[in-house]
Amino acid sequence: MHYKYCPKCGGKLIRRYIEHEKHHRLICSKCETIFYLNPKPTAAVVIRRDNKILFVKRKFEPQKGAWSLPAGFVEYDETVHQAGIREVKEETNLDIKIKRLLDVHSSFENADKHVLVVGFEGELMDGELKAGDDAEEVRFFDIDNLPQNIAWHCHLHFVRKATNQK
Ligand SMILES: [Zn+2]
Repeated sequence: MHYKYCPKCGGKLIRRYIEHEKHHRLICSKCETIFYLNPKPTAAVVIRRDNKILFVKRKFEPQKGAWSLPAGFVEYDETVHQAGIREVKEETNLDIKIKRLLDVHSSFENADKHVLVVGFEGELMDGELKAGDDAEEVRFFDIDNLPQNIAWHCHLHFVRKATNQK
């Protein structure tokens, strides 16, 4: 993501090498505020029922029409665990609790966005399966017959971790 103007004063941002940080940074040419760019944290959740895994068919870009785990960006006022629980509820109407951390993945799959994906395994608690506003369809897939077009490679990796496959 490339920003052009300072969020504080509207001055033009310029790129400058900062000696003590050994890094190029965006700096405001007016107020000299350093604009730090960091990856965006997201949570993705593997939910297992018998021998099946829950997937969501994406209604919007990016990756519209592809299948993904219930997942989304962490809001500023919640923990990454809460984000996982909330995204599952929003996209599938199911209530879960977080069972364990599966893995963490730095994703550069979208060219302009560095996303940090925290993969959890969730335990089904309650609720009736129903597609939310940003899901076209929600469905449990057999572990041996997962969807062909999975939106992000790391989601498949999380599924394999959760089901002890290599
Ligand atoms: Zn400024």
